[in-house]
Amino acid sequence: MDFSELEAAEGLRWPWNAWPSSRSDAAALVVPLSVIYTPLMPLPDLPLLPYEPLSCSRCCATLNPYARVDYRSALWICPFCHDKNPFPRSHAGIADHNVPAELFPTHSTVEYLLPNKNPNPFTSPSSVLNSSFSSNTLFTSSTSSLLPSPVSAPPPMAVSAPTPAFVFVVDVCSPEEELRALKNEILHVVANLPENSLVGLVSFGSMVWVHDLGYTECSRVVLFSGDRELSSVKVDAQIFFRFLPWDNVELPVDPYAPSIGRYGMCLAASGREGEISKAFDEMKVEPRRVAGTRPGLSGGAAVAAVVDLLGAFLPASSFARICVVTIDLGTLDKGISVKRTRALTIRNHQSSSNEVEELHDSRTNFYQKLAQKLLERSLVFDLFACSLDQVGAAEMRFPIETSGGLLILAESFESEQFKKCLRHIFKHEETDRLDMKFDATIELVTTKEVKICGALGPCLSLRNQNSLVSEKEVGQGGTSSWKTSTLTSKTSIGFIFQVGGNLANEPGPVFFVQFKTRYRHGDGSIRLRATTASRRWVDRLRPQDVRTGFDQEAAATIMARVGVSRAEDYHARDVIRWLDKMLIRFTAKFGEYAPEHPSSFRLLPGFSLYPQFMYHLRRSQFIDILNYSPDETAFFRVALNREGVNGSLVMIQPALLRYGFDGPPSPALLDTSSVTPDVILLFDSYFHVVIHYGSKIAQWRKLGFDKDQRNENLWKLLEAAEMDAEELIEGRIPAPRLIRCDQHSSPGEVYAREVKPIGEHRRHAMWMDRSGYLTESLSSIVFYLHLQPLHLQSPNAMENAPSLQTHEERIKKRKEEPEEAHSRVDSGRRDG
Ligand SMILES: [Zn+2]
Repeated sequence: MDFSELEAAEGLRWPWNAWPSSRSDAAALVVPLSVIYTPLMPLPDLPLLPYEPLSCSRCCATLNPYARVDYRSALWICPFCHDKNPFPRSHAGIADHNVPAELFPTHSTVEYLLPNKNPNPFTSPSSVLNSSFSSNTLFTSSTSSLLPSPVSAPPPMAVSAPTPAFVFVVDVCSPEEELRALKNEILHVVANLPENSLVGLVSFGSMVWVHDLGYTECSRVVLFSGDRELSSVKVDAQIFFRFLPWDNVELPVDPYAPSIGRYGMCLAASGREGEISKAFDEMKVEPRRVAGTRPGLSGGAAVAAVVDLLGAFLPASSFARICVVTIDLGTLDKGISVKRTRALTIRNHQSSSNEVEELHDSRTNFYQKLAQKLLERSLVFDLFACSLDQVGAAEMRFPIETSGGLLILAESFESEQFKKCLRHIFKHEETDRLDMKFDATIELVTTKEVKICGALGPCLSLRNQNSLVSEKEVGQGGTSSWKTSTLTSKTSIGFIFQVGGNLANEPGPVFFVQFKTRYRHGDGSIRLRATTASRRWVDRLRPQDVRTGFDQEAAATIMARVGVSRAEDYHARDVIRWLDKMLIRFTAKFGEYAPEHPSSFRLLPGFSLYPQFMYHLRRSQFIDILNYSPDETAFFRVALNREGVNGSLVMIQPALLRYGFDGPPSPALLDTSSVTPDVILLFDSYFHVVIHYGSKIAQWRKLGFDKDQRNENLWKLLEAAEMDAEELIEGRIPAPRLIRCDQHSSPGEVYAREVKPIGEHRRHAMWMDRSGYLTESLSSIVFYLHLQPLHLQSPNAMENAPSLQTHEERIKKRKEEPEEAHSRVDSGRRDG
């Protein structure tokens, strides 16, 4: 089964494409029943239907190809709840040769253009989408290809693009040269914004400075104290006092006048770069160095003020992003990460001080509350931390992730990574429109035997309980709908399910899941994308059927997300142990072997790569936090949680390509044995792309042989690696770092350790391999050899392995969990 092809058609990847109908059989599969869904994946021939969907009166599922239609009685039977729904009067002409597009078998995904209930106040009412359509536009003949197909049907009447607002929140403690680089970058972005955009600028040091860019008579700044949280009433009274009744300011005659008048701190972007430049020049750079103390920074207060301001004054049909660019830690207000005195250090993964822990908890709480506000107002929070040190991103992760924002760690505002990521946010879809999809709500409808446990990815649970929601919560659970402020075409969310216990009746041969994603398009229209998927139940008499539908790549992706979710509550070592136990149970269930002969152990072809993915996952930066700061861990985990299957796999198991003179580029073993003097290696770990030149090639390059036209093979080889690296980097966000290094140079040594563990079976804590690198990491082959005898243990030995738990169980277990004896694999890891 080609799972990638299926994904390209419906945007879904299922670890199991056939599900057992009993809960105990499902638990024995180890990898949970789940799906990776990319809500806005660009699909070929996606019909855009200019009317509202017909929904089932009982379960709210929309009309789909799996519905049974009774043309004579003009009703359809919902495949989810089997309720009969009459067609409305607008569907009077329905017949088997004249059906709406959403009933076509090929249209399991359709997109509806919904009437715009919140039109942009800056447009005339006549341009608002007219929702009444004649029934003639609704139907398409299934028998005649001459009739216009809804696939190409344009929206009946275009709505004008909503007013986007972008507020840059800038840390004034940045060194002057960094501020200059930042100013240039922001000016570049603003100059390319569509004409109707609004831009705001807020800077923060020990005070919060709101730069009133709309006030042109002179520079005007509203100052807030940075160490207090202000109520929104106070915020707007201060910002907008010049427009209160006693102030006789006349609004200028300008198409965007309402925005300038009413939304004080914002202004139309077009042609106003001068004001932004002036505001930057006037930013008061606060003295950075005071012996023994850190600078006063009130980033939390600045973000909270912007959220209040945008929430209170931006019209509902607008959307906004808050881009925070900072290089240092919050030391004031509720968003504080660390005390100002340098005697106290910022938390790390090993922090044990109560004071440090308290600060971490209070800051996390502050940002969790902020997340609720952001989602209520559909605001996106992006953080660009451009510093070699921590800025407290770990605590800010929740609002960034749930609102769909970007968390970027870079070294400087001058770095390519920062520039690429910032420009990516503002990339255009059409000349006058940004490529942004906002204010998304995802709702799931399932067959009644399928219960929803939760979502793992960039979204927030709406706590919308119904009979389809399982009592077991995983990630954002306890709901059948989720919200996020923005979605990209690549954002992927993992959904975890459970089957409904011991069923009295045998369910039908198939089950259904419908995904309904409602969002605001960049052109101002509101759309609903409905994807209805059907998968088989495994016949109880043929349990082996479950194997044919196993997608090991999707399974590794979902296990990575479950692992990351557990790592939020448990110590990394416990998560690694849990992954090991899960792998042992999995291989014991799906392996084939002769009793008492560990070496006879084999996995089926469709399962053989899974242990390898798990091996790389357990030693990846997502789970193993050793040598990473909490900020870096947050950065990696946010990136993993939004990435689809293909990107996630590169993150989990880096890819290695070999460029030699003996043939075309080929995948190479992730092993130091691949490093040889006469090849170029292209290493891709998603966050880093490394071009590694073997020592001979490096030498020839230094001697300039590649410039000599006679050495065509050499320069072609160099060029091929370079072009492929560029292709990998293109469009990837967070932008990876491109590193070029030579064998035996110091960056080359660092990279070679990444490629490490070698494939030799040695049982010493540390060894030197044949290429001379020291490592204490266990090789995949040693790992696999340790696994083999474990598969053969009695099934009872596996019973102790914990399964997915409810949130309450997790918390309880976290408090009570006794130190278990390390599993054999774990001790093998230390011995290895
Ligand atoms: Zn229904």
